[in-house]
Amino acid sequence: MPTGRVFDYPVTYLANVGATRAKLLKDGMGIETYGDLLQYYPSKHIDRSRFYYTHELTTNMPYVQLRGRILSFEEEGDGRKRRIVGHFSDGHGIVDLVWFNGLRYVEQAYKLLTEYVVFGKPTLFKGRYSITHPELTEQQSLSPMGLRPYYSVPEKLQKRGLNTRMMEQWVLTVFRVLHEPLPETLPEYLVQEMKLMPRDEAIRAMHYPRSSEQLSQATYRLKFEELFFIQLNILRYSRERNRRYAGHVFAKVGEYFNDFYYHHLPFGLTGAQKRVIREVRQDAMTGRQMNRLLQGDVGSGKTLVALMSMLIALDNGFQACIMAPTEILAEQHLDTFRHFLGDMPVRVELLTSTVKGKRRQAVMEGLQNDDIQILVGTHAVIEDNVCFHNLGLVVIDEQHRFGVAQRAKLWAKNRIPPHVLVMTATPIPRTLAMTVYGDLDVSVIDELPPGRKPIQTVHHYENRREDLYNGLRQQIALGRQAYVVFPLIKESEKVDLQNLEEGYKEFERAFPEFRISMVHGKMKAVDKEREMERFVSGETQLLMATTVIEVGVNVPNASVMVIMNAERFGLAQLHQLRGRVGRGADQSYCILVTGFKLSGDTRRRIQIMTETNDGFEIAEEDMRLRGPGDLEGTQQSGIPFELHIANLARDGQEVQLARDVAKRVLESDADGRHPEHRGMWEELARLNRYRTDWSAIS
Ligand code: ADP
Ligand code: MG
Repeated sequence: MPTGRVFDYPVTYLANVGATRAKLLKDGMGIETYGDLLQYYPSKHIDRSRFYYTHELTTNMPYVQLRGRILSFEEEGDGRKRRIVGHFSDGHGIVDLVWFNGLRYVEQAYKLLTEYVVFGKPTLFKGRYSITHPELTEQQSLSPMGLRPYYSVPEKLQKRGLNTRMMEQWVLTVFRVLHEPLPETLPEYLVQEMKLMPRDEAIRAMHYPRSSEQLSQATYRLKFEELFFIQLNILRYSRERNRRYAGHVFAKVGEYFNDFYYHHLPFGLTGAQKRVIREVRQDAMTGRQMNRLLQGDVGSGKTLVALMSMLIALDNGFQACIMAPTEILAEQHLDTFRHFLGDMPVRVELLTSTVKGKRRQAVMEGLQNDDIQILVGTHAVIEDNVCFHNLGLVVIDEQHRFGVAQRAKLWAKNRIPPHVLVMTATPIPRTLAMTVYGDLDVSVIDELPPGRKPIQTVHHYENRREDLYNGLRQQIALGRQAYVVFPLIKESEKVDLQNLEEGYKEFERAFPEFRISMVHGKMKAVDKEREMERFVSGETQLLMATTVIEVGVNVPNASVMVIMNAERFGLAQLHQLRGRVGRGADQSYCILVTGFKLSGDTRRRIQIMTETNDGFEIAEEDMRLRGPGDLEGTQQSGIPFELHIANLARDGQEVQLARDVAKRVLESDADGRHPEHRGMWEELARLNRYRTDWSAIS
């Protein structure tokens, strides 16, 4: 039987996997086939040749193996704390085995005074060691000793009876029916040159290593392979795209750009802004379609770069549009652009879902007959019925809010796809950028406009309300404005936490002399707009809001950002919120208000915020704390293939290496016809089979 096929067998071919278990495996662990099973690598290996004695136990042992007998069972506690305790003795001391669920099952399954091998993590409680939910095996039924795989099974599945031993049995079965070596996926010359372990040996060794040395070589090989295929995929698509799609040629910089630059720009550009505009120009001149990611910390002046890039499009006879994630932000861009452009003959219009009826009709017509040169909007601009006369450039602001599918729609907007400039203030760590946005060229604004004072960030416990109020009073007395942000609008959980509406009442009582705006996601767009407007115009001094203000809002006079229940926000979000202040020349402040009880991770988040204003540093730390899969904004874009072993937070060097090698391989084999690469392309096709085909998009 060819191994390729065994790899694809559904798990239901296994003796004790029926429809129910198959579904559990699929939903809970992503395992559908024999191949998936083999690639569900053990989370660790246990040296099962070693038995411990109870008197040797210490508190920092990850897992131990003991040999002995259960002397008696006892039920303890009630309600959710109800548990069954088995008193286990190995002749040297007693260890309590504890089960919190399946109580009846436990008593039936395990016999008193029978010799068991117990396996689990010991913890010390009231002077006695206990092992919660231990694994018990009868002494005789143990397989050969040595390094044995330990598969972590999600708790939900454990409750349904799945455990590491079952996994082990299934994996063994798969190896038994696999009569040929697993096919090599990397070109042989790479395996040789990089001294990689062959794939067959590596996968086997992941489960049953002969030594820890062999295990680490296997891990390295498979990690490299994962990263390599991701890079190969990305790089191949961007090459193909360049070949397939011509881009508009923006040959010149003309009247619009120059008029703006020399007569309308209220301040000098920063060096970084100039550099990025130059990069955009160079890209757009080449006749290949531009796909550029612009990363710049909050307040670094991306909007202006967007506007000036658009003017280059206009200079070459094209229209341009910018897409923002929220209506508030789209409206603000409209105002900003109109304000910046002053009396220049450029027509800028807005299109959001609230632009309806005649107004909408007028915008549609203006776009088609080329009267409107710049369109500002939300995702409404990518609806199918919006037709441009000649769209040359699309700017996507705060990219992390948009999904891949939405970007794809842009490609239908013109016969030749427009150039795309994607802007994000969520700094993406390098390794992740190379992976998620690996096919985009990257520009970075690493410089803030001059005269900004770094924001001072402090942490307050919530009982220091008076200090907080006094601080706010002082700032407002100086003519400044302040934001107060709450994580939730309506209390839905039992947790005692002030919500926005309650907070609003409190602040009204505390500040009878001030006017307060309130904005949240459940409000009607017109009301939101009015409340924002009151704040922007300076009529109100305080803006109390949920995170709708998170992205993009620009009120330079605001100098204080108060974040209530700051423990509820992630690092990226905190940093985004903080970025709403510090936009003028005044000293600005960010006050993180939390309760007393903080977990270790939360404490660390707050600490980082008070220590640094550097978005990249914060992003790196965020990735370390949360792991790359969880990084805000990356779920949507999605890492192309699932990572089993590689870890983007840790394996930066390997990501770079994989990218370099993939580039070289592609360059040596432009048509993909090289016989040595056949297995590699087959593997890539296999990996791609389960994905939507995004080949035409960035
Ligand atoms: P972001 O990158 O977060 O989108 P914005 O584009 O909103 O930042 O810019 C933040 C503020 O800085 C705005 O008030 C903008 O007018 C101002 N700004 C942008 N570029 C410069 C510059 N070169 N010099 C001074 N102020 C600038
Ligand atoms: Mg912005």
